Amino acid sequence: MCKQNIYLIDLHTHSVNSDGTYTPKQIAKEAHEKGLKAVALTDHDCVFGLDEFEKAGQEYGVETISGIEFASYYESSISKKTEIHIVGLLIDKNNKVIIDKTKTILEQRIERNKKMTKRLTELGFPMTYEELCALAGHNHCSRTHYAMLMVKKGYVKDKNEAFKKYFAYNMPAYVPRILPTPAECIEMIKNAGGIPVLAHPTLYRMNDEQIESMAKDLRQKGMEGIEVMYSTYNTRQQYMINNIAEKYGYLKSGGSDFHGLNKAGISLGTGKGNLAVPYEFLTKLKERDGKQ
Ligand code: AMP
Ligand code: MN
Ligand code: MN
Ligand code: MN
Repeated sequence: MCKQNIYLIDLHTHSVNSDGTYTPKQIAKEAHEKGLKAVALTDHDCVFGLDEFEKAGQEYGVETISGIEFASYYESSISKKTEIHIVGLLIDKNNKVIIDKTKTILEQRIERNKKMTKRLTELGFPMTYEELCALAGHNHCSRTHYAMLMVKKGYVKDKNEAFKKYFAYNMPAYVPRILPTPAECIEMIKNAGGIPVLAHPTLYRMNDEQIESMAKDLRQKGMEGIEVMYSTYNTRQQYMINNIAEKYGYLKSGGSDFHGLNKAGISLGTGKGNLAVPYEFLTKLKERDGKQ
């Protein structure tokens, strides 16, 4: 895709290896068909799909970026404890520390999921852990897969109802995960030669002051990039995050957070229709890569 003669990219996507519906190969193919110059795969806590993704990129002639999206908790004197997400871009997909850490995170996720299955059954929604994994096609299931199973079994009318009533933070079926700290995520990503990027800060139920304070704090803790373009930002939010990026010396990143059919209305590259992340962001990220 080429608007006003600039090459466009997407630095935030998910495949079937986490909670998306496209395979890594299908993401690379779609990127090629949409004319994107580069695309990153950033599955939740997982690097499983990156070999397939790289190969598919070569096949379709699209630049593929190895990435990951870690979840973490953030807390400060002005923000109550919230789950935040940190994207790692340009990582070495064979880095042993990241591979080992994702294995530990997966074990903890499985343990949490078994508790959630028990909790839901007790709440009057009988289900088994095996049914959940069968629906997901793997064992690294997220709350999205639970919501899908609840819909499939006729317990709720749609995924929104499932999150609203049961899976959102502090709702009856919510079981917290054990997560690495932001500093641990940042260190792991840098150790793997990558750039840590604060993902979608507008999604953390924080006001502008809390977002800026978090961005300032995390920059001091070594965060290097921030998503200044994202599918759901309105003009005001994009302006606000862009100002924060410039004020605190963040590299700019952006992406759709494409999940295939699991996030209706969000397309690869274009998000809700207006997203246009310039290749220049990637050029600057690569310049920083390996320098710090
Ligand atoms: P988990 O990693 O198991 O805690 O699940 C997190 C996933 O659930 C996220 O990646 C989102 O895709 C999805 N999610 C979280 N909160 C909501 C919500 N309020 N509505 C819809 N999906 C959500
Ligand atoms: Mn997701
Ligand atoms: Mn996220
Ligand atoms: Mn994401």
